[in-house]
Amino acid sequence: MRYSVLIILFLGLSVQLFSKEWTVSSVPNPKKNYGGFVSNPDGVLSETVANQINAIITNLESNTQIEIAVVVLNDIGNAVPKNFATELFNSWGIGKQGLDNGLLILTVINQRRVEFETGYGLEHILTDSYCFRIQQLHMVPHFKNENYDLGLLNGVEAVEALLVRGEIAAADSTFATNSNYIEENNDLNYIEENSSETTYASKWEPFYLFFLIYGFLYFLYFVIFLIVKYKVGKIADLHKRYHSMNAYAVWVWMFFFPIAAIPIYIYVKKQRSLWRNSPRISPNTGEIMFKLDETDEDAYLKSGQITEEQIRSVDYDVWISGIEGDVLILPYKRMFNNFNACPKCSFITYKLQKDTVLKSPTTISTGVGERTYECKHCKYIKVETYVIAKVSKSSSGGRSGGSSSGGSFGGGRSGGGGSGSSW
Ligand SMILES: [Zn+2]
Repeated sequence: MRYSVLIILFLGLSVQLFSKEWTVSSVPNPKKNYGGFVSNPDGVLSETVANQINAIITNLESNTQIEIAVVVLNDIGNAVPKNFATELFNSWGIGKQGLDNGLLILTVINQRRVEFETGYGLEHILTDSYCFRIQQLHMVPHFKNENYDLGLLNGVEAVEALLVRGEIAAADSTFATNSNYIEENNDLNYIEENSSETTYASKWEPFYLFFLIYGFLYFLYFVIFLIVKYKVGKIADLHKRYHSMNAYAVWVWMFFFPIAAIPIYIYVKKQRSLWRNSPRISPNTGEIMFKLDETDEDAYLKSGQITEEQIRSVDYDVWISGIEGDVLILPYKRMFNNFNACPKCSFITYKLQKDTVLKSPTTISTGVGERTYECKHCKYIKVETYVIAKVSKSSSGGRSGGSSSGGSFGGGRSGGGGSGSSW
């Protein structure tokens, strides 16, 4: 009996002698040591779990820039864990500078205490009540069983779920039936009521953002149509009316806004045909005019206009009243044709004919290209050379910028936000 008491005393003493009392300046900084996020100098966590936690945080950091440090210490002497956490947080500068999006999870085994220390930039998402809830539901139950591996792994996973997906901590399945936690803690009831707080993830879900923008564009497409339609009604000249509806005579809208664009397209097409073909009154003589067919109209067109008709860049309607010299020529430029106005004869008969690379660009030197333009009417030809930009090295798809591994934390600050739990 006496022996066993002695052995216990001796063991207790030797633990006191051999376990290290950590201070803020002596805790190994994982960023500096190996570019990671887990400081486990007493080996409380198994190596497997420490690596798992590190992988979760590394992934989180590369996706969201958020930095989480996990520190597990046996002993910090008489220091108060909360103060220790605040000091350690600011000493390491956890989180990115300016964003202050850091979180320190400090676990002190001999004081049976876990502290979450949040940076200014995370306080509105990772509120004190959420921190407490995560500790109570995911960590403390396992810490009570001295299963620090499971407690910290689950805790970090719950933090990640909240930050990335806006998921609010639910109890671990093994502890879900233990309703004591809910009943004992008024804080938890308070959290239930406040669970509608917004997070990074839930608010800017790409899916919702897409539909918001798409819906807005759809609305814009339709409203502008109504405005254009109203304005067209005020235009007396039928030829001008025809062109004012150009934008809505394009079939591509049917791709993007089918339900509205199909009836609009059909309506616009019908209206434009009406405006183009209804009999006109001569602006000169006041006589009724008639439209000539394609073969008869050529007698009234210039050779450049005939070329335009042949290459289908512009279509012409020729109207005559029967009175000598009373002619009306109305152009209808075709949309989506490759021809431009010729700098020499100014008909819409000028086109890029050839584009060749004379010298390919490399990563160190620019290249040279040559474009040949030709007019189908007056046969004017223009050749121009142009510079091709260097091939960019970074265009190969590598991840850019951000923080590299190793070095140090980003320089975030904490004002003492966060929460702690004992077990
Ligand atoms: Zn020309």
